[in-house]
Amino acid sequence: MSIEELRLEGICPTCYNFKHGGVYPKLGNKLLYEDELLMCFFESRPRSKGHTIILVKEHYQDMSYLSDEICSKVYLFSKMMMNILKEVLKAERIYLCTMCDGEPNHFHLQLIPRYSGTKIGSTNFVNERQSYIENLEIINAIKNKLNIINNL
Ligand SMILES: [Zn+2]
Repeated sequence: MSIEELRLEGICPTCYNFKHGGVYPKLGNKLLYEDELLMCFFESRPRSKGHTIILVKEHYQDMSYLSDEICSKVYLFSKMMMNILKEVLKAERIYLCTMCDGEPNHFHLQLIPRYSGTKIGSTNFVNERQSYIENLEIINAIKNKLNIINNL
């Protein structure tokens, strides 16, 4: 089934993909981190280089439905990823957004790097999408930093 068909049936495409696969392409090397709570991966149609998604596996419509414990974990993870992305990608700032306009919506956060010399402001949230260009050096550097932090 397509994303649109699932939505029309009131089925969350993300949850459906977890159970059955086939809705979204496999993440492959784009997957940076995964644990029992969340997954973190590069967006396949990034709005800037390093556009990253933090996806909570369980279905929540938006942030307001999270328990305080899960909310804390997700946002602390996001803060850690922001610092790693800044360091590895030499980004000047990392924008954070979460949208909840779809029905059904599967809660996730987006981290969108902004680089030195580029315009500031909220239009960065809707920059034209680019092709994803795989860079294993960057992927491995991020994974190494995640491993080091998680083993402290
Ligand atoms: Zn869902």
